[in-house]
Amino acid sequence: IVTVVGSYVTDLMSRTPHMPKVGETVLGGPFKMGPGGKGGNQAVAAARQGSAVYMVTKVGDDEFGAYARANFTKETINTQYVFVDPVEATGAALIAVDDNGDNLIVVALGACGTLTTEEVTQASQVIAKSDIVLVQLETSNEAVIATVALAKGHGVPVILNPAPYHEFPREILQDITYITPNETEACSLTGLKVDTEADALQAAKAIYVMGVPNVLITLGKKGCYYYHGGESGKLYPGFEVQALDTTGAGDAFNGGLAYALASGQALGEAIIHANAVAALSVTKVGTSPAMPTIDEVLAFKAV
Ligand code: ADP
Repeated sequence: IVTVVGSYVTDLMSRTPHMPKVGETVLGGPFKMGPGGKGGNQAVAAARQGSAVYMVTKVGDDEFGAYARANFTKETINTQYVFVDPVEATGAALIAVDDNGDNLIVVALGACGTLTTEEVTQASQVIAKSDIVLVQLETSNEAVIATVALAKGHGVPVILNPAPYHEFPREILQDITYITPNETEACSLTGLKVDTEADALQAAKAIYVMGVPNVLITLGKKGCYYYHGGESGKLYPGFEVQALDTTGAGDAFNGGLAYALASGQALGEAIIHANAVAALSVTKVGTSPAMPTIDEVLAFKAV
């Protein structure tokens, strides 16, 4: 079982010939809507790999909330702990992409931004029987803190994907098993610029000292740098693919990693699997809809 505690937002995407200036209205299109949010995307990635996934999040008492629930159900994700907020709306990401491929995004977390300790605690029993718990920073800090504390109490390993990066109580780093920052997030955590493999080692060492035994820094198409003490770590190179849309690559990586660890794979093997899930996800447009199935990943790894 993989339990994901985090965000759900509806992605509302439009192409635009150029980015509107302040006060300007641009006629864009086409328009596309889809399920999103880091938590939701990671849950879909793990479910499509074959994990039994429980999603802990919160939506509004509105049509987008019903849409979220229907999508989770379609993906075989358990919605017992998808709470409904009577006041806040379901979160949304307003995404504009111009003809150069540049984007402009406003994320309104809405209901999932107010997930409470009490709500996370209601999921205590499922956290207790999980093989792995996956959490990001795209919900309230109190939900993140409660998740880590509950998992620790039940001896369940936690993957923290520190995204999107913002300040959080650093003490929780001592209670998690894996951390998966990308280059920017590793830099925010340590103050060290992360670009090369050598930079990744220095940043990973600094994060390790904060109390995380397994540091996995994702380096885009370069792959994932893994460190767990000692002189140096190991680079697991990314798979070569024709990248079409890299949004959601990190989410695919985290969902793939959670699946692989929950199904008992050794960490090295799990990182390779996560790299493969993420590589396939960048060959398709979108976030949740771009997540590959286990059959696609196994066929890809076989060649
Ligand atoms: P984020 O999406 O959070 O910025 P990264 O860009 O580091 O995260 O990507 C996460 C993972 O996705 C990488 O570790 C790698 O496995 C995979 N990935 C990203 N971009 C590519 C690419 N162009 N080709 C192959 N794999 C990629």
